[in-house]
This record gives sequence, C-alpha cells and structure tokens, in this order.
Amino acid sequence: MADAKRRIVFLGPPNSGKGTQAAVLAEDQGIPAISTGVMLRAAVAAGTELGKRVDDVMSSGELVNDDLMAEVIKDRLAQSDAAEGFLLDGYPRTAPQAATLEEILGGMHAQLDDVVLIDAPEEVLVTRALARGRKDDREEIVRNRLRVYRELTSPLVEFYEVKGLLRRIDGDQSIEAVSQQVKASLGAPGI
Ligand code: AMP
Repeated sequence: MADAKRRIVFLGPPNSGKGTQAAVLAEDQGIPAISTGVMLRAAVAAGTELGKRVDDVMSSGELVNDDLMAEVIKDRLAQSDAAEGFLLDGYPRTAPQAATLEEILGGMHAQLDDVVLIDAPEEVLVTRALARGRKDDREEIVRNRLRVYRELTSPLVEFYEVKGLLRRIDGDQSIEAVSQQVKASLGAPGI
C-alpha cells in the first residue's frame, strides 16, 4: 500500500547529512523522526539523570552503552506516535543495538521496511564538521566519531543489506539532490 506508514532506519557517518534528511522524510511521510542524538542532547541540556550519565561520553565522541540506549529507545518506541511508523536517526549504532531493535519490533509484531544509508568520503565529512565549528567538532573528536562509526556502526550496513532492506544514497551532493534520491529509493508517493 503506497501510503502505509513505514518503519525506517537512517544509517550513516556523522555529518553525512542524515539528520537533515531524516527530518525532511519523516515530515513528508507523517511519521515521527526519532533521533537519539537529539534526545540525549536534550537530556544533557535539561540536566536530567540520563543527561548526567551521558554527558562525558558524548563529548568524547564515544558511544553511550548499549544497555542504557536500550532503555531510551524502548521507552521512546512505546509512545503512541510511534505505533504505526517511525524513522530512527542514530539508532541502532552497534550490532547489539540492532538486535535490541529486532526484539522491540518483534514485540510490536512489526518489522523494518527500509534502511537508508547516506554516506560520503571521509574528507568531505571532516570538512563539513569543522565548518560547523560546534564545541564537539574539534578535529580530534570528529575523527574519533568517524573511527567509532567505522568500527561499531558500519557492520550494520551488511547486516541490513543481506536482509534486502538497504537503500544506498551518495551524501556528497546538494541537500535537494540527496532528498530526491532518498524519496526515490523508497518509492515514496509524489515522485
Ligand atoms: P548524533 O547526534 O546521532 O551524532 O549523536 C551524538 C552522540 O550521542 C553520539 O556521538 C553518541 O555519544 C551519542 N549517541 C547517540 N545515539 C546513540 C546510540 N544509538 N548509541 C550510543 N550512543 C549514541
């Protein structure tokens, strides 16, 4: 059914533009964009218990531990706006997180529909990050975030590819061009 809500995962290295694209697509599809990075940053800013636990790890560019992330994502996906469809941006990021997501989906009698990978060459990613100049965008931390992505997250590309869910998009293009390709890769209505 062309207009059925979907369950979509966005995958890609930091600064690939996936956050921007995730927000655009989610709006388009009428599903919530659930970004764990946004959720964690909000928790840090609000000074919650969760925020205090993740602040240092986030600043270093390392990953928050899988058990804590499992609690965060279980709670979020249990909310009513995510019952029929959602777009995950930044989760899963490790093999155990992908397994947790499968468990959660199993409990909902649901499965993923698409995994969109937005990627770009490393130097493009680093240049973009440094151009933004946020406090966690020092080159050393930027490179660490990329290393963490390569080591822990990039194995998920193959995990989803063998399931036939992966849509690969070249992120080294204009926002509009990427957006078009994302929609086309999902066969979204209006294309
Ligand atoms: P992001 O905005 O998605 O790049 O996330 C910012 C930071 O939040 C990451 O560098 C991690 O420290 C943390 N984070 C976000 N999502 C996850 C996740 N799924 N697992 C572990 N850490 C995460």
